[in-house]
Amino acid sequence: MSRFLDEKYASLDAYVPGEQPQDKKYIKLNTNESPYPPPPSVAEAAAKAAASLQLYSDPECCELRRLLADELGVGAENIILSNGSDEALNFAFMAFSGGGVTFADVTYGFYRVFADLHRLQSHIIPLRADFTLSPDDYVDKGSLIVIANPNAPTGLVISLDDVEYIVKSNPRAVVLIDEAYIDFGGDSALPLIKKYDNLLVVRTFSKSRSLAGARLGYAIAQAGLIEDLNKIKYSTNPYNVNSMTLAAGYAAIKEKEYYTRANKDIIAVREMTAKRLRDSGFEVLPSNANFIFTKYPGFDGKMLYTSFKEAGILVRHFPGPRTSDFIRVSIGRKEEMDTFINTAVSIVKK
Ligand code: PMP
Repeated sequence: MSRFLDEKYASLDAYVPGEQPQDKKYIKLNTNESPYPPPPSVAEAAAKAAASLQLYSDPECCELRRLLADELGVGAENIILSNGSDEALNFAFMAFSGGGVTFADVTYGFYRVFADLHRLQSHIIPLRADFTLSPDDYVDKGSLIVIANPNAPTGLVISLDDVEYIVKSNPRAVVLIDEAYIDFGGDSALPLIKKYDNLLVVRTFSKSRSLAGARLGYAIAQAGLIEDLNKIKYSTNPYNVNSMTLAAGYAAIKEKEYYTRANKDIIAVREMTAKRLRDSGFEVLPSNANFIFTKYPGFDGKMLYTSFKEAGILVRHFPGPRTSDFIRVSIGRKEEMDTFINTAVSIVKK
């Protein structure tokens, strides 16, 4: 830290992304990326767009927004595109947090960072002992509510009825449902958008569309909330999505079949992995995402993480009273998961 950093940021604990190691080749199961690259048409579209990089990207993202809106059955005015969904989350934390923000104790770590960055009053609500969320804890909070569904790092979901109950019981505030992993399980809150002016759904192309490196996310809501988010966007970075990413996103939406198959594979491999781990004595939370959250009796999560790393496999460990026994393991290709499972068994049998 230099002596010039503004005091208000001095104590900020920044988000720590999963490792992206350059030292050697690992089986990389630590950041919930897709194990499959995007189809060739997506890379071709991005390369074509690269030929016009002397121009700014379209700040309104018109073409991609239109296509995405058609795909989702909403209007273009119901969507804002962002530089990864992290940016849409940040915009929402800036725009709708006048009354503070409410989120679970075990959830996506960036919520706490955004809350601290913007110096918000945070209401952190413990999940139940089994990591499920109790909807009654979220009634009429008078603050922005942020819920990841499926949740990270647990992979657990809440039902659409519970989402509606929470949205309905918070007429004074925005309820943000982060659906980064919705293509791997759970029911989307999208059908509720038309009914509720306080619901904001945030999604990403990073996981189920294999575009983590392109940085493309979006938020869906009634036009009023989207206008508010645009106000923040145009006050920070009007060209927030670059033209190669816009082209890649457009091409990706056209490749429905490819992604449907890839995501189906990921779900099948997830179920196979969970079963084989359980058969070997691991506890595995029922996941609806492209990762699993697992532990082995008598083993500390950090110890597991280190043993896997020594064996050339990267997983994620989250220190903290409720999570430190666990590791989060992204679902890779079948062969990678075979290696992971064999390694897991040999680590715990040692
Ligand atoms: N929400 C959740 C729950 C996540 O796990 C992630 C991935 N780190 C994100 C949002 C952000 O993803 P991205 O910025 O790549 O869209």
